[in-house]
Amino acid sequence: MQTTQESVDTKLFVEKLFESAKQKTSHKLRTNTRDCSRNLNIVILTGAGISAESGLQTFRGAGGLWCGHRVEDVATPEAFTRNPSMIHQFYNERRNGLLDDNIKPNPAHEALFRLQQDWPGGVTIVTQNIDNLHEQGGAENVIHMHGEVFKSFCIHCGKKTE
Ligand SMILES: [Zn+2]
Repeated sequence: MQTTQESVDTKLFVEKLFESAKQKTSHKLRTNTRDCSRNLNIVILTGAGISAESGLQTFRGAGGLWCGHRVEDVATPEAFTRNPSMIHQFYNERRNGLLDDNIKPNPAHEALFRLQQDWPGGVTIVTQNIDNLHEQGGAENVIHMHGEVFKSFCIHCGKKTE
């Protein structure tokens, strides 16, 4: 896997976070007879940068465009009402992009999964991203603030599909 400077920095950041949280917990364990570590929960917010490291175009790239489109033209209910087939095509392209074998979770996704595995308390990942790279990297209980590109619902009957 090609590792860029930015993903190395992200990995280092996660490792530092891990170390510092561990130190705080062991300090609490020394000063308190109760096992506090189970009560120490962590919430992590991720955004476009973590997906960009895997080669996905960020939500708003240079010039504020998302894959050449104004966000208002592809990510609003009004845009969908105006031109549903264009919106379907846009999100089908995003889905196809994710199915590309070269688009994989990067070391930052893997580090966050490891944190979820090893941390004695809860680790909740909240993401602004609509891709499933956290899940591909093994993460569980990921909260997608802006929805998930592989999940959709019918505006007529509300049926959800994956
Ligand atoms: Zn329906």
